[in-house]
Amino acid sequence: MNHEEKTMRQEELLKIRDLKVYYITSGGTCRAVNGVDLDIHHGETVGLVGETGAGKTTTALSIMNLIPHPPGKIMSGEILVDGQDVLKLSASESRKFRGKKVSMIFQDPMTALNPVETVGDQIMEVIQLHDHVSKAEAAAKAKEMLELVGIPADRFNEYPHQFSGGMKQRIVIAISVACQPELILADEPTTALDVTIQAQVLSLLGDLKAKLNTSMLLITHDLGIVAETCDRVAVMYAGYIIEKGSVKDVYRDMAHPYTIGLFDSIPDLDKDEERLKPIPGLMPDPANLPTGCPFWPRCPAPMDICMREMPPETEVSPGHTVRCHLHSEGVLKYE
Ligand code: SF4
Repeated sequence: MNHEEKTMRQEELLKIRDLKVYYITSGGTCRAVNGVDLDIHHGETVGLVGETGAGKTTTALSIMNLIPHPPGKIMSGEILVDGQDVLKLSASESRKFRGKKVSMIFQDPMTALNPVETVGDQIMEVIQLHDHVSKAEAAAKAKEMLELVGIPADRFNEYPHQFSGGMKQRIVIAISVACQPELILADEPTTALDVTIQAQVLSLLGDLKAKLNTSMLLITHDLGIVAETCDRVAVMYAGYIIEKGSVKDVYRDMAHPYTIGLFDSIPDLDKDEERLKPIPGLMPDPANLPTGCPFWPRCPAPMDICMREMPPETEVSPGHTVRCHLHSEGVLKYE
C-alpha cells in the first residue's frame, strides 16, 4: 500500500452530516432524525445505542437510501460513503451500491430471507447482481460463503425453514458479506436469537470483520455488546446523537445524564442492590418533541435554559462529545 493509499484508508469511510429525516403523515410530522453527524473510519466498528424509537434504524435506512417516500423524507444533510453522496444516487445506482458497498443485516432473519427460495439461490442472487460471473462461479462463491459462516456447503439447496434461528441469521450474514461490502449495518442482529446463539453470531461477525477488513455500524440497545465489540459508541435519543466517543472514554467518563441513566439501569452483579434504577418517564413522541433539550422532561436536574435551547455539541475530551448544557461553556453563569 503506497502513502496515498494509506492516507485514504485513514479517512472516514462513512461521513454523515446534519442528517434530518421526517415522516410526514396526515396525523402530524414525526421528527425521527434531527441533525445527526456520524463518522466511521475504515475497519472500525461503531455502536449506535438507544431506546426503541430513538432514530437508530431510520439512520441506517438512510445510509442504504431506503427511506420509504412517502411518508419518509430526507429533509437535509449528506451521507458520504467513500466521498460519494448516497442521497444523490439514482435508483439504479442505489441498487448497485447496496450489497456491494454497504449491506444491512436486519433484526429478524425470517423476514430477511425468502421462504420459497433455497438459501444457495438467495446468496447467488446477490453475487450475480453485483459481480459479472457465470452461474457456476456464483454457485461456487455462494458455497464458499456458506462455509465461511459455518454452514456446510452441502446444505446449499435447502430452504430457510430447514435451519434454526441462529443458522438463518448466519445465512443472512453470508448474503450480506457475499460481495465483500466495505460497510455492514447490523440492526440488532442478535435480538431475535437465544442468548447462547447471540454470542456465536457476534463472534462470527467479529471474525468476518477482521478477515474482510469491513467497517461496521452495530445498532443495539445492549451496552454489554457494545463494550465487547465496538471501537466507538454513539448514544441516540429522540433523533439526536447526545453523546459519542471511544468506548473507553464514554464508558469510563459518561457525560450526558441519559447515558448515565442507561448505565444505572443495568444490573451490577458486584453490588447488593435490591432494585434497578430505571430512567423515569418515556422517550418523547417524535411528532411532539419538547422545546430545548429533548431529555429535559426526564432529566434529574434540568435548568431553565434546557427547556428553551437545544444544547450544542461540546467536546469533553479529544473525540468525546456531548450535547448537554451542563457541559456547554458559560451556561451556569448564564443561568
Ligand atoms: Fe438535562 Fe439540561 Fe443536560 Fe438536557 S441539557 S440532559 S435537560 S441538564
